Order: sequence, then structure tokens, then C-alpha cells
Amino acid sequence: MVKPQAHRIVDMPNRAVDARKPGVGASARTGATHCPYCALQCGMTVAPAGEGADGATVTISPRDDVAAGHGGPSTEGPAGGGLCQKGWTAGDLLTTAGRLTTPLLRDERGAPLRAVGWGAALSRVTAEIQRVQARYGRNAVAVFGGGGLTNEKAYQLGKFARVALRTANIDYNGRFCMSSAAAAADRAFGLDRGLPFPLEDVAAAEVVFLAGANVAETMPPFLRHLRDPAGTRTLIVADPRRTPTAAPAGIHLQLTPGTDLALANGLLHLALVEGLADEAYIAARTSGFAAVRDHVLARYWPERVERITGVPVPALREAVRALAAARTAIILTGRGAEQHATGTDTVTAFINLALALGLPGRPGSGYGALTGQGNGQGGREHGQKADQLPGYRRIDDPAARAHVAAVWGVDPADLPGPGRSATELLAAAGTPGGPRALLLFGSNPVISAPGGVADALDRLDFLAAADFVDSETARRADVLLPVTQWAEEAGTMTNLEGRVRLRRRCVDPPPGVRTDLEVLAELAGRLGAAGFSADPAAVFDELARASAGGIADYAGMSHARIDADWGLFWPCPDAAHPGTPRPFTDRFAHPDGRARFTVAGHRGPAESPDTGYPLYLTTGRQLAQYQSGAQTRRVADLLKTAPGPYAEIHPDLAARHDVADGTPVRLTTRRGTITVPARLTSAIRADTVFVPFHWPGAGRANTLTNPALDPVSRMPEFKVCAVHLERAGPPGTSEAPGPADHDARNPATHDPAEVRGGAGEAA
Ligand code: SF4
Repeated sequence: MVKPQAHRIVDMPNRAVDARKPGVGASARTGATHCPYCALQCGMTVAPAGEGADGATVTISPRDDVAAGHGGPSTEGPAGGGLCQKGWTAGDLLTTAGRLTTPLLRDERGAPLRAVGWGAALSRVTAEIQRVQARYGRNAVAVFGGGGLTNEKAYQLGKFARVALRTANIDYNGRFCMSSAAAAADRAFGLDRGLPFPLEDVAAAEVVFLAGANVAETMPPFLRHLRDPAGTRTLIVADPRRTPTAAPAGIHLQLTPGTDLALANGLLHLALVEGLADEAYIAARTSGFAAVRDHVLARYWPERVERITGVPVPALREAVRALAAARTAIILTGRGAEQHATGTDTVTAFINLALALGLPGRPGSGYGALTGQGNGQGGREHGQKADQLPGYRRIDDPAARAHVAAVWGVDPADLPGPGRSATELLAAAGTPGGPRALLLFGSNPVISAPGGVADALDRLDFLAAADFVDSETARRADVLLPVTQWAEEAGTMTNLEGRVRLRRRCVDPPPGVRTDLEVLAELAGRLGAAGFSADPAAVFDELARASAGGIADYAGMSHARIDADWGLFWPCPDAAHPGTPRPFTDRFAHPDGRARFTVAGHRGPAESPDTGYPLYLTTGRQLAQYQSGAQTRRVADLLKTAPGPYAEIHPDLAARHDVADGTPVRLTTRRGTITVPARLTSAIRADTVFVPFHWPGAGRANTLTNPALDPVSRMPEFKVCAVHLERAGPPGTSEAPGPADHDARNPATHDPAEVRGGAGEAA
């Protein structure tokens, strides 16, 4: 039986959620499922609790009923299970304020949302799609998805866009998260799977190098895989901040923001001049080495790299020698290294280093990217990207188009081509030639995208959003469709290891709420497109056929098999195939079987400090909030722990501006201004300001960030720009948004209590 206390990461009691609150389904069943948040996808048990265990309340506990050696995933069970504070409190989402239970509709722009039935809501969406496409063309209707959607939803969303809407314009918020790592891995290995090895390899590696990853705050149970009871592991962390991950590291490379690429090239230079490269591996398993060798030897000598990065030469030497001396070593990148206008090249430079040291494909060693969003891996494989068809196929590949069109029963010539990437799609909203209507599923770009997205959305003729909460973006919609969440639905998620897991339905959704698949099936039917199932298992079977022969090949998987096998690693091309935990052991995925070195030159940030904006700004996440905060800002315990935004600044910088802890500071970039309280810490460089990005309003970090895009991945440069800081008032007078104004900030906010039960039609 479950013993939650035995495997906890954070000291918290089991959460009992009052499921008798309005908006919560009638019954809960004990079931094994996974956390609704990050890509670690920690296993958890949702169980009825309370008097009589009648389903009126639920408890959340880590899933540790997996016997050691049973073959269960390394994110659950005695060997690896656990939950962070977000996971422990996830049950609160089932009863959260702002939960949508009734379709809402605005009769015209500026009018309040009013409750309607599903029939009226879907009729309005259908009519607006038809009106906009008749007037402006098919591409004038765009679709925006999310990395939290199940594989089935991501697949169906792509099919819906290409077959029912026949629009090229579909993209998703994973463009803000994983796109640079994905592009670089694809370039180097011919295949992008975040970790091309199981987490147990990380646990066994003698050296782990984390480049721009703060796992202690973003996915704390991951720390179990970095434990070092024998004292034989070296942890190296490259980060401008001494984060909770960097603080205990053996080597912390506290580099200048935006210089990760120069750091990687500098380490490679040292490896080459010190004779640490694995020449036999390079000769046998790679191509393109000579050009990279010549490039880094000519340009990235240690003293120059120290000048660029601020990292002392001895620390550079110590890091590369530790990596090269280890029998097993793993290099992992996170968003800190990836969210740059040079993100693809930066990851490429770290992969070059890994290849030169002979790590990828070697047992217990390798390179990987730490996927962020819950289904950030599967969400980028099955067709919700602007340039992609299911199975990680390219939409401009004639053979891929023919295969997928055959599965969908359409003429390949009718499939649209590549569309706009997320940032460009949102920026073009409502402009001549840009989208005039947008259908949004499971995403909150008003918080998560750079720049003034709210203004862009308000330029649209029509916005529809399917969500389970009234997020900052959903509140701007003309039609809001209430859909199921996490424990209320079945589907698959592909975790950061590339392991496909089954999400089980453990709680009945509130009456009147539909699944995204039901919404898409109904809309497709109304638009005259057949073949859209609402059954997750049937949709997965179709996804498996569509992916067959592709890079991300799920053809041998089914819900039943994934369940029976505790998850399956892709590629898994047929029903007898065991799945592929380590795809690069014998060969890489390029036609010649070799990994490719690619020259990647340091170019610096798109915007560097100057006299007007003399400091670096960097952004990121903190422990008790998740991404745009649309979910975690609604959980009382998390909001208590992390109530609002702040600016981390070094005491020396604070002294220069007469700022004390808590003093409001005004941060200004070329994009805008926010005001947040200062948080003084010596863990940050004196030339750098850090702001977490989870909050709306006056403290919205992405008001400041630079929308400059990586030329390959189209990733915005979230991680570095130039900022001006000034004191905005005496200590203790924060202007930052707090818990109380979470819902009061947006004029479109409605009171769910006013509309609940007011539907004019049966659901
Ligand atoms: Fe959930 Fe990620 Fe925390 Fe695990 S680490 S409990 S998946 S948020």
C-alpha cells in the first residue's frame, strides 16, 4: 500500500480536496496517474478520501507502489518517486476558483461574457470560422496549442487545422520552450528526443554538467538522480545565478548572461589543446569535426573566453578535465542555455563538446535537453507545430505528406504547407495578411509570450479558447469552451525521457464539461470534415498509424500496451518491438548513421547593455509556480509560498540605487516597464537582474523581454536583454500584483459563480 511519507521531496501532508465544492464531479476512483505539470511526469495516486472514502474528497500521493526492479519508470517507485510542492497540491486544481463549467460567449466586443449552451457556443465558433475564411481566406483562421496537451490532443489539433480548417497557421507554446534544443538535436543527431537515455543513466553518471538548468526549483524530484552518497560524482552547473541547483555543485560556472555559446566553445578549445578529445569515437561515429576544430582553436582561446563569459580560466580547465576524465558523463541543457536568439547554435556548441568527448551513444553517457512542459516532448512530435506532420515528419516533405494524407483520407495536395511560428503568428494577429480569428487550446500566451500579446489578440476579429480555467488569455475570448483537465481525462503524455505514459481518468469531470477531443470532433463535423474521433484510445491508434515510419514512430504502441509495460520509449515501430530507451547506441539517425558537428560561432545577445540600459535582465521560473501560472497561481499553498513577482538583485547593485530588500524597483527595457519589489541576494551577478515570469499585470516579466528570434528555431530571446533599474519608492510599498488582484486586473474577468448553471441548452 502507498506510504506517501516515505518518498516525499517536500514535507507536506497528503492533500484532501473537497470534491463537493461546486464544479467538481461526483466521484473519484483510486487510480494511478501523473502530475499535471512538468515533463518529469511524476507518478501519483489519486484516491477517494474522507469519511467513507466515497469519492467526495481525493488525496494525492507519490506513486510508490511500483516494486523495485519491476521495470517501472524512474519517476516513480522506491528508486525515484516523489513529488514537489506543485504535485502534492495538484488536487486543488479540481476545485479551483475560476474553473469553467459552462460555455461563455460575448455577443460583441466589449460585451460581458454570458453563459450559453454548447450548441450556441459551437455554432458561434463555426459561423465565425466560416465568415473569416470566406472573407480573408483559409489561413486567416489560426490555431494555437500547448505543450501540456496530451499526444492525442496535439495530434488531433494538427489534423483539425490541416483537414477541417485547411489552414497553414498552427503553432504552439512549445516554441517558447523546447524549439532550440529540438532544432539542434535534429541537426546533430537526425532525431530530437530530449533525453536519448533513461533517467537512470543520469543517476549513474560520474559527471553531470547542467547548462542553464535549475532542476532544484523546476523539477525537484530530479535531484534524486543527482544524489551522490558515495561522493564520487562531480556536478557542474553553468548559470549566471547561484541557484539552489548551482549552490551545492562541485563547479559553478557563473557566466555572463548570453555567453553560453562562447563558454561551450571555450571548453571544447581546452579539450582539444589538452588532448582530451576522443579521436577514435570522432572518426568512427561523427562527421564535420575538422571545421569545428579549426573554428574553436582559432577563436576560443581561454583568455578570450574568460573575457566574454566572466568565467576564470582555471574553472574552465577544471570543468573540462572533470568531464573528460569521467568514465561516464552527461551534458544536459535547459532553458537558460536555449532561450536565446542564438539558442540553436548554443545547444549545437554543447553537443559539439559532447561529441568531441565521445559521450553521445556511449552507455551511461550522452547529451540531453531537459524538457519543460508536461508533454513538451510528445507535443512537439505529432503535428501542432507550424512545419510538422505527425511522427516528427516535415510538412514540406512530399513522402511525409502522402503518408499522412493517406491516413487522413485526403488528397496530399489539399494539405497546407508550413505556417507562421508562434511569436510571428501572434504578432501578425489582426494585421493585414495575418490571422483574423484564433482558436486557442491549453495555452496562456498573454503571460508566456514576449511583448504585447494582449493587444495583438484584441486586434482579432474573433478569439475562441478551450481551457479549464479563465486564464488571462481565455478571458479575452469571444467564446470560452470549458474542457476537462488532467485527472478527469485519459490520454498519453511523453515524458522528458521519451517514454510514453498513460494518463488515466480518476475523477469525473463536472457536468457540462467536455474533452478537447469532443470539442474538436464536434467542430470538425460542423465544418464538414469526417473522421474525427473523440475516443482517446481510438485517436491514439490513428496517431500510431500516422507516425509509422516517421522519426517519432509510435506504430507499435497502444493504450493497453503502454499501460501494461509501464510506458514505452519511442521509436517503437511494431507491436513486438520493446521500445528504444537508448536510440543512439549503435548509430545516429542521419542516413549515414553519424552524428554531425556543426560550426557555431558566438554572436552575443541580440541586445547588450549600454548607457541607457546598463544591466542584463534574465527571466525564469521559481519553485512554487509553473509556467504562466494559470494553474499554480490558483493553488492557495503555492500562492502563499510564491505570491508575486520580484527582482533579484545583488546587494552591491542595490546599494548603488539606494534599494533595500522589498523596495519597489522600476525595470525598463525598450519594450516596456514593470515595477516589482527588490529581493537582495548575493547569488546573482552584480550586473544582472532576474525576474520570474509567472505573473500578469504590472509585474509581467515578458513585458520586458526581447522578441528577437533564433533564425532556425524561432525561439524568442527570453533569457537576456538590456534593462534599466531605478528605485520606485520606499521599502515596503510594493506595486507588484499580489494574490488579491489576480482576478481583478482584467476588465473581462467574470465571476464564475454568476454564470454557473445558467446554460441555456443542455451540454
Ligand atoms: Fe509535478 Fe514536475 Fe513537481 Fe514532479 S517535479 S511533482 S511532475 S511539477
